[in-house]
Formats: sequence, C-alpha cells, structure tokens
Amino acid sequence: MSVLAPREVPLGGTRQLLVRRTLPHRDLRTVGAWCFLDDYGPVDVTGTAGMQVPPHPHTGLQTVTWLLDGEVRHQDSLGSDALVRPGELNLMTAGRGISHAETTQVGATGALRGLQLWVALPARHRDTAPDFAHHGDLPRTEGEGLSVTVLLGSVAGAMSPARTFTPIVGAEVVLAPGAHVGLPLERGFEHALLALSDDLVVDGSRLERASLQHLSPGRSRVLLTAGPNGGRAFLLGGEPFDEELLMWWNFVARSHDEVVQSREEWMAAVDGASTRFGQVSGYDGGALPAPALPSSRLRPRRSR
Ligand code: MN
Repeated sequence: MSVLAPREVPLGGTRQLLVRRTLPHRDLRTVGAWCFLDDYGPVDVTGTAGMQVPPHPHTGLQTVTWLLDGEVRHQDSLGSDALVRPGELNLMTAGRGISHAETTQVGATGALRGLQLWVALPARHRDTAPDFAHHGDLPRTEGEGLSVTVLLGSVAGAMSPARTFTPIVGAEVVLAPGAHVGLPLERGFEHALLALSDDLVVDGSRLERASLQHLSPGRSRVLLTAGPNGGRAFLLGGEPFDEELLMWWNFVARSHDEVVQSREEWMAAVDGASTRFGQVSGYDGGALPAPALPSSRLRPRRSR
C-alpha cells in the first residue's frame, strides 16, 4: 500500500482536539526512523482551552513539534519552557526518560494547526540523556516555484543543525501556484509525503489532503505539481529502520517488561515520587496517568 489515509483520534488530555494519524499504520509502522505522525487543525482556539496536554512521559524517541499556524508552549522535566511558532522546530530527545506538557496559552486567539511527529531512537542510543532544543532559524533551499525548510537532515545541500541519531530527513515543502517541480530525494532512504493542502499531485496522481504517500528507496527525486492556490507538503524519510519496536502509549520500547516498568515508574511519578521522568515544574495541574495495560502480552513488531 503506497497511500495511507489518516484515522481520526482524540488527543489525550482533551476532548476538543481531534488529530489525523497516519503513522503508525498497520501496513506501515515506520518511515526511516519516523514512527508517529499526527496532523491537527486548523482549529480556532479563541475562547477555548485549545491544546491542553498535561505532563506525560516519553522513552526511546525524539518528539518533533512543527506548527503551521498559532503557537504551543512546551514545558519539560529538564526545566525547559519554550514557545514554538510556525517555521520553528521544538525537538525533544526523551532517551532514557523525560516528561513534558504542551499547552495553548491562556487568552490565545486564532487558528492552531500543526504536526506532532516522533522519531524512534536506535538501540545503541535509546538510553541517551534526555535533551530539549528549540531551533528558531532553520535552513531553507529555494528553487523555481519551490521552497523547502529543512527540520532534520538535509535537502539539496541545506543541512539542519538539529541533532539526529539515524540517517533521516524531515522538511516542509511549499509550492507556488501551478508549480511543477522535482524534489530531490536521497537514494538510500525510503520517504513519505504528507499532503498539507488540496490539489497536490505526486508523481502524476492526486494526493488527498492529510493522506500520506510512501516512496520506496532507490529514487533520486519525486515530481510535485501544485494547483492554482499553490501547494504544501511535509517530507519525511530515512534509512529503512530494521529494528523491532514496541510502541505503547508514549513509550517506544523493545519488550513487554520494559513497558511495564516504564508505566510503573511513571505512575509513581504521578503520585509525586522522584523517578527518571522527573517533574514538570511550573505546570498548573496534575500529570496524566497512564492507561491500563492490555491483558495480553505486548509484542515488538517490524516496520512492515
Ligand atoms: Mn508528548
């Protein structure tokens, strides 16, 4: 299957915000090391709570926050407190354990729209120290009718300063009205394109807004055509990730027992104990309890 349609999922911690999730998909769990992709909004946050995700833990991954409209506040157990806006990257490395909250500020107005992605850490780096970085000035490469902002990795020689742990790329692609362009790809990578606008044509076929088109390794470019209002897409890719993963709730793990232990340590943290997940100081409210574990044993899986 090369085109994945999104499924709608209510975001944890709020009933208001529905997200469109394309990764993981039962037929495609990863694209490179990218293992999770939520696309949300636009929603008008005026007079509402907007996004309210209380403190919750992560392990074994990096979170990538990318906004198309509005702003989101990030607070974490390292003491980071950063607003992210369109064109800026918030990159959090969970490593062995971190917790964070993501919120719309009180009194915010206007549209909120964005992407939340996760990148799995490879086994040799998954217990790395937690870290947070805000990148406000990312490289951009321009072509005829084409503008690419590079979040992770590189496109056409424009290289992001953000830290990664596997060969990977992430970029926002903006097309001028009617543009017909070849977007360069890395031959050894698999890629996927998420349509962020209507009227986007990929390799001659229309890609519905919010759908994800997978592109197998071995290609040096993909042809994109924009409609009369221009086009927008998000490019993700990387070397095919050949490790088994066990993703449960906010943990990217390798085994059932590891998930059980992470869950127990997080529930102790919710009760105020000091654990490897720390505490998000300055957050006004309680932390998010983990859901119950399923009755059956969780099993790690390959990408496809
Ligand atoms: Mn999170």
